[in-house]
Parts: sequence; C-alpha cells; structure tokens
Amino acid sequence: MSSSDVRVRFAPSPTGPLHMGGVRTALYNYLFAKHNNGTFIIRIEDTDQERFVPGAQEYIMESLEWCGIMPTEGPGIGGDYGPYVQSERMDLYKPYALQLVENDKAYYAFDTPEELDAVREQAKNMGMPNWQYNSITRSSLKNSLTLPADEVKRRLEAGDKFVIRMKMPRNEDVRFEDIIRGWVVVNTNNLDDKVLFKSDGLPTYHLANIVDDHLMKISHVIRGEEWLPSAPLHILLYQAFGWDAPKFAHLPLLLRPDGNGKLSKRDGDRLGFPVFPISGNLKDPKTGNMESFTGYRESGYLNNAFINMLAFLGWNPGTTQEIFSLDQLVEAFSLDRVSKAGAKFDPDKTKWFQQQYLKATSDEDLAQMLKSQFNLAESDEKIAQFCHLMKERATFIKDMMEEGSYLLNKPASYDEQTVSKKWKQDSAALMTEWKSRLEALSTFDAPSIETAFKSFLEEKSLGIGAVLPLFRLLVTGAGMGPSMFEIAAYLGKEECLNRMNDGLAKLG
Ligand code: GLU
Repeated sequence: MSSSDVRVRFAPSPTGPLHMGGVRTALYNYLFAKHNNGTFIIRIEDTDQERFVPGAQEYIMESLEWCGIMPTEGPGIGGDYGPYVQSERMDLYKPYALQLVENDKAYYAFDTPEELDAVREQAKNMGMPNWQYNSITRSSLKNSLTLPADEVKRRLEAGDKFVIRMKMPRNEDVRFEDIIRGWVVVNTNNLDDKVLFKSDGLPTYHLANIVDDHLMKISHVIRGEEWLPSAPLHILLYQAFGWDAPKFAHLPLLLRPDGNGKLSKRDGDRLGFPVFPISGNLKDPKTGNMESFTGYRESGYLNNAFINMLAFLGWNPGTTQEIFSLDQLVEAFSLDRVSKAGAKFDPDKTKWFQQQYLKATSDEDLAQMLKSQFNLAESDEKIAQFCHLMKERATFIKDMMEEGSYLLNKPASYDEQTVSKKWKQDSAALMTEWKSRLEALSTFDAPSIETAFKSFLEEKSLGIGAVLPLFRLLVTGAGMGPSMFEIAAYLGKEECLNRMNDGLAKLG
C-alpha cells in the first residue's frame, strides 16, 4: 500500500527497444517510489505516430517484468488515472491547447511546411543556418499574432491547417531547481516557439507530457539528461496553465567504456556486450526493416545482477558495499546520491556482478535454471550437487555445463599439458596403488577420501602436487577444476574407479 503523495512515472515512447539507459531511468523511478512509499507509474507516450513501432510497448513491459520493477499503474495494470497510453487519451489534449491560446500563452500558426522551408532556406543563404520560429521571427510569419482577427476566424472556420505554438516570452529568465543539477537558469531568448498541437490534430510530446503529468498528479519527474533542454519550456507550460510543476531530476548519461560519448548499440556490438535488457526483433523506424538485438537475459545474466549493476551507473550508496538486492536498493536509494557526471559503462564490472550473483544463488535454484536450459537425465539432487561443485568457477549457467562436462560424461581426452608435465614412468603404478586405497574405503564421501589421500601422501613422502593432478587427470581428463575429493564423491566409487581404470589403460 502506498501512503505518500510521491507519484513518479516512466514515460517511454514506443519507438524501439528499451536501451539499458531507459531501464535505468525506470529503475531509479521504481527505487525512488518504493523508498518513499509512493507510486510508480508507466505511461506510454505514443503521440508521434510516424515513429511508432509495433511490439515496442510489449517489449518494454516484458523488460520491466524481467527486471522485477513492474509499475503499479499503467496499461494492462490499471489505476485511477488511466488510460495510460497517450493515443487512448487523444481527445483530451486539444481543449488544453485552446485554453493556452485563449489566455494568450499560445497562438495559431498557419504557415505551411513549404513556406517554412523557404524561410529557413533564405535565412541559411543569409548566413543564419539555425533559423527558428521564435519571439522575433513570429512577427513576420503567418499566425494569429500577425493576421487580422477576422482572417484567423475565417481560416479556422474554413478548416485551414494550423498548428498551435507556444508564445515564448521575450527575454525572461526561466529558473528551476533540479534535484541532481541544482539551479538551472535559461533565458527565453534562447528558446523557440515550440509546436504544442500539430496540424494532424494530435498534441506534441511537450503538451501531452505536461497535461498528463498534471492529471496523473506526478510529484517528481525523473528522466534522462537528454530532456534537460526541454525542461524550461515545461516549466513555462506549467506556469501558463497556472499549475504547480513537479520536481525535476535529470539523470546523467550512460557513457561508453572509454568515456567518449553516449553508449550505443554499435558500441555493444563492437565490444561484445548487450545494451538491451532482453532480446527482441523490432522494426527500425528509420529504415523500416526488422532488426534483431541481443539482451542481457538471453546472454545468461541473472536479472538481479543486471539491476544491481545498473543501479550503480550514476548512483552510489556512499559506502563500500556493492552487492544490493532490489529491496536493499530500495532502502538505500536517494536522488541526492545520483551524480551529475556521465556514468561509464564497464563490461568487466558487469560480469563481476553476474559472477557474485551466480555464486550466491542456492544450489537448488541453480539446478532448476540449469534444467530449464539443458536436457539432463540426473536427479534434482544430483544436479544441485553438480551446481555446488561448478558455480565457484562460473560466470554464467552455461559455463557450468561447459566446464563441468566431465562430471556428466567420462573424459573423452586427457589434457595434453598435464600429461606431458605430470604423467611420468611411475605414475601408473602410483595411481594403481591409490586406486586400491579408494577401493578399500567403506564410506566414499569427500572427507573420507581426503583423509585417505593425506595418509597416502604421508606414507609415500610425496607432495600434493605430485599426486593430485594425476588423480584429477584420470578421473576428469582435465588439468584443473574444483575439489577432487568432492568430484570423486559426486561421481561415486564405482564410476570413479572405472574412470581410473580407463585412464590407466589409455595413458599406460
Ligand atoms: N516520452 C519521453 C521519452 O521517450 C519521456 C520523457 C520524459 O520522461 O518526460 O523518453
């Protein structure tokens, strides 16, 4: 039950797959909401029909679900402030745009795209490449501020195409306090008259975003740094409507491992790591072609490891603790420990988190995961023992299978390096003797095997390095691996002795 007025939203546009930067935005919103006993909402911002990608919304929801950070209000979830998809709210925005025109905060503009292109071209030829529709240029353009009132009326009645633009005040400082960046001040002379309502009858992102944040009673807007330039316009829109603005927190960028620029899909492909939470196949809005991409889930990452890693990209707890469960993150998270500076993504650190989580997962849980990925004939108990043996040396579930294949099948070959370094003339005799000691054991568990092994070494006055590698070689075919006593116990006496016989026959 949420009992505070904290209401935050993740507001993705379904224009493609959710990049890990987007997941981090969702995560920080989730953590902030839960920490403050508030509500985490998802709103789909699909006002830009041209960039709409079928399946993207489903992809986003599935990603959040995998990450374990599901909102409590949103499409398919419910809530008192729906619908939560903007295309289902389309009729709602126009009256707000008209209200702004009415109050002289916005105006109708009738310039056609061709006319504006011509003006832009002309400005470019005169050495002004960044022409804008703004508080100066609007006075010479075709809008309700320059045209006579009756002509505006006639045009509107005749159904002429129009957009509604923000009437940006001239030379005013817009200031707001960003939770992460402190005071931000921008002069309106640097802002253009943004379109709020388009000629197709739909609102732009800016209008729909502000209206919905207001109607959904959003208390804090936590979003990526790329939206910082839009924030002054948003503040002005709140003022124009006479509404209280939410508090803003603009998150730092996710940077490439070398710190040079924003992390992109291309960097992931080049350096061999995923930049998306889950794999998928979606239309590229630019080319129209289907594009597939790889996710952390399919690359074998545990969701909690991914989340833990992501939480640290831009935030730190102020202590040396690095491993945090989702609940611990909720407990520890605060926006004032989010940094302004871009966060460098570190693929090695990501693997390290995964390793820690794999190691910390119970043998029984790992056994279930292994079973879901591989066809295994062994009992659950045996698979759990297998995981117990292999997890220390693995990063991913599949590593356990690759490295531990000798626990499931007899060795097909014997590690050449170990053979040439360790297998001497007297090795066969030594191993035959050790084999008979094993044969004589009445209890074949790891401690009994280890005790027998130690007395064998003592008797022979041999060091561990002279005997253990030979034993390992015969039983597993490998030069390295987990405890040989545990391996022998796992295989059982009969299998262990059989393998030793096979090895002795092959290596002589
Ligand atoms: N729809 C915007 C996006 O795709 C949301 C920006 C915001 O959170 O205000 O990121």
